[in-house]
Amino acid sequence: MSDTYDVIVIGGGPAGYPAAIRAGQNGLRVACIDGWKNRDGSHAFGGTCLNAGCIPSKALLESSELLHRAREEFATHGIRVTDVSMDVVQMQKRKSGIVKASTQGIQALFKAAKVEALAGHGRLLAGKRVEYTALDGTVRTLEAQHVVLASGSSPMPLRSLPFDGERILDSWGALDLDTVPRRLGVIGAGVIGLELGSVWRRLGAEVVVLEALETFLPMADQQVAKEALKQFKKQGLDIRLGAKVSGATTGPTGVALAYADGSGEHSVEVDKVVVAIGRRPFTEGLLGEGSGVTLDERGFVKVDEQCWTGVDGVYAVGDCVRGAMLAHKGKEEGVMVADLIAGRYGEVNYKTVPSVIYTAPEIAWVGQTEEQVKASGRACKIGVFPFLASGRARAMESTAGFAKVIAAADDDELLGVHVIGPMAGELIAEAVLALEYSASAEDLQRTIHAHPTLSEAIHEAALAADRRAIDFPNR
Ligand code: FAD
Ligand code: AMP
Repeated sequence: MSDTYDVIVIGGGPAGYPAAIRAGQNGLRVACIDGWKNRDGSHAFGGTCLNAGCIPSKALLESSELLHRAREEFATHGIRVTDVSMDVVQMQKRKSGIVKASTQGIQALFKAAKVEALAGHGRLLAGKRVEYTALDGTVRTLEAQHVVLASGSSPMPLRSLPFDGERILDSWGALDLDTVPRRLGVIGAGVIGLELGSVWRRLGAEVVVLEALETFLPMADQQVAKEALKQFKKQGLDIRLGAKVSGATTGPTGVALAYADGSGEHSVEVDKVVVAIGRRPFTEGLLGEGSGVTLDERGFVKVDEQCWTGVDGVYAVGDCVRGAMLAHKGKEEGVMVADLIAGRYGEVNYKTVPSVIYTAPEIAWVGQTEEQVKASGRACKIGVFPFLASGRARAMESTAGFAKVIAAADDDELLGVHVIGPMAGELIAEAVLALEYSASAEDLQRTIHAHPTLSEAIHEAALAADRRAIDFPNR
């Protein structure tokens, strides 16, 4: 077998594997090198997303939400259940099955797209050569016309609280617990902290979330963030804002977390703690001498809008480059690069990358927040529709939250759509498409939405932006 390829992708996560598949679809000779290691030492494609991120977290969010509903909501429906309890081991078994099916699926996709799957480590050398170390330690030097770096990211540690896999956990550790801790500390009220905190809270843990910033979800529309904080507190998440964790004392029975807020120094005792203070690009061992690829001051691989590193034929995509650390952003970058390499058109519209937080209620948005629009100086009109007024949401017993549409006052251009409520992550797709096609609020208003659906909330919010909502009094 020749060691020369049209494209070598290093990293088989949601940025790397789509790049490899699209390159294969484009008729190129492709190899994808991936070095993910499971706890048992086995290898699986799919990176963080499939093995220890998006997919396992959503599996646990689903299981824990069902438990919550069985306990809190079934009686309202007239469903009588007694002795509802959680078998955490079975919950984890289901999660592992979903992860396995997903990661094995990639092997099948590679086969169909004629991508050579190489388990092991890849290092970019000078002249687009790649040193490939297989899992058995065998080293080969491969050559390629093009190389795509997709090495991803890893959890950021807190210097004063190093991960020990026992009491001080990263997000992967928090996804793998096989018993419910009595008291769980979560450091960081970002997306990952809130999702993992929600899982274990619903399963019965007392959860305290310590967040250094005074503002809750600063990247989200603040009307949405305010509603989210209210709902999460109602669920019993003890969210403390302006609480900067400075250290911890680990003892045989737990961890005493030291934090400071505006009122002074405090300590809180927990059994386990999840450090969810963000992720950093992972590029360890990726770049050999003379690769020519450079990193920025935060460790991200430097790239332009088209993910080109500045080195002839070398691109980088996903979490290891600037921008939102999201699987779908990485996927679009991977696909773009594979199309550009094949001489096709490729582009990522970074203005329409949706954000989703899979809590209950879910939170999703695309485009600008009200604060961003106001700061830009552009006059806008805003429509809000509460799920309380949605027939479908009432039927679902899920009336918390609202949809919010922001459009320009002058030409009606849609600037941002924000949803907090049931299935927000699904609902936002319509808004992404609308923004992608530079739609106006009127375009949304004139689009027929099936009744009764949750999507009517976005329709009504668009109407409300012009004080023309039908199902809710216009103010
Ligand atoms: P990764 O998924 O990290 O994959 C990189 C791969 O490259 C890994 O397999 C790694 O082992 C391998 N690798 C690295 N260096 C080398 C090398 N030199 N040689 C060979 N292989 C190498 N995002 C969402 O969009 N939605 C969500 O719901 C969501 N939930 C999340 C929940 C959690 C708990 C976490 C931690 C993250 C979540 N994310 C979510 C973020 C998402 O997982 C990342 O944005 C995504 O995985 C990034 O994809 P990537 O391909 O760039 O990197
Ligand atoms: P994200 O970057 O969205 O994953 O969120 C991580 C969150 O952790 C951010 O909101 C940070 O403000 C928060 N954070 C970072 N360091 C600390 C710390 N020492 N104590 C508490 N919160 C922190």
